[in-house]
Amino acid sequence: MTVAPMPSPAAAPMVDPLGRTVDYVRVSVTDRCDLRCTYCMAERQTFLPRDELLTIAELDRLCSVFIGLGTRRLRLTGGEPLIRKGFMDLVARLSRHLASGDLDELTLTTNGSHLADHAQALADLGVRRINVSLDTLDPDAYRRITRGGALERVLAGLDAAAAAGIAVKINTVALRQDNAAELPALIDWAHGRGLEITLIETMPLGEIGADRTDQFLSLTEVRQTLEARRTLTPLARRTSGPARYVRVGETGGILGFITPMTHNFCDTCNRIRVTCTGRLYPCLGQETHADLRQVLRSGPDDAPVVEAIRAIVARKPGRHDFRIGAGLGPAVARPMSMTGG
Ligand code: SAM
Ligand code: SF4
Repeated sequence: MTVAPMPSPAAAPMVDPLGRTVDYVRVSVTDRCDLRCTYCMAERQTFLPRDELLTIAELDRLCSVFIGLGTRRLRLTGGEPLIRKGFMDLVARLSRHLASGDLDELTLTTNGSHLADHAQALADLGVRRINVSLDTLDPDAYRRITRGGALERVLAGLDAAAAAGIAVKINTVALRQDNAAELPALIDWAHGRGLEITLIETMPLGEIGADRTDQFLSLTEVRQTLEARRTLTPLARRTSGPARYVRVGETGGILGFITPMTHNFCDTCNRIRVTCTGRLYPCLGQETHADLRQVLRSGPDDAPVVEAIRAIVARKPGRHDFRIGAGLGPAVARPMSMTGG
């Protein structure tokens, strides 16, 4: 196995013009997925030709450059990362940065459908926490939302993660028609298993062949409904992410809210995202980007890659501007599966 060398640690950390230190990078390793969640993809989604994707060696090289620039947390996502060919090889390569102490956390976001096969190997490579997306515990609703997924595979994945000692956070997209009524039970279930759960508002990313207005459910509304039945105590705890947390008195568990639509969390945003084609976006909701694939493929020298990264971090927008409503198209055309959630 050949691994990319580390760039010079002399590089200063990435700080944008608003003083936000960028030390968290999300990398989409594929736009492909074994599911077709209704809010994420069209039923007949067209995927990119494989040669447009960064190779595993390029992903390793790029992630290593970011780590040399002060990235402390790396999240691999997609599409579905666990179906990317060579994905476990990538995790194995990147785990050297955990071993050296240059990286605090290597993690992934997954739909969980292939987690049972990989949980132990991920744990052995130093993955301590993962996010698993799950919007319902009803097998029929799960099949409908994901257009064909099997709930029992995700549940088996969660069991395997627990057995391997990996902490799981459940990500649940709040959907007016599909899971609004079930959310309290889903929260109780997660907390009963000792899992954190975070609710997410749907964002207008990518053409999905449907109107999002019907499915959008404001978390302000969800929170009000929950507060009528549960004791929610806001926690001072802030992770580097956009979630705001409460403790649920009745379960003792932690519940997060990610509200890109009803509250803007951009002032503390410390993250940048790389698409599976190597485009670096300093903001999920804006078009500003750099084509790092072209720079990576222009030669083995990392200096131009560093230069391109710094130039785009210097242009990190102050905030996104998402709106969902009748007649409004997606805020940006690229789907979440390409940029990575
Ligand atoms: N396939 C993996 C999964 O589902 O966890 C990783 C990629 S997926 C794009 C990452 C997260 O984005 C998931 O939690 C998913 O629910 C969320 N997501 C996808 N499309 C979204 C949208 N339009 N608005 C809000 N969240 C979305
Ligand atoms: Fe696939 Fe994740 Fe998108 Fe669902 S949300 S279609 S699992 S990439």
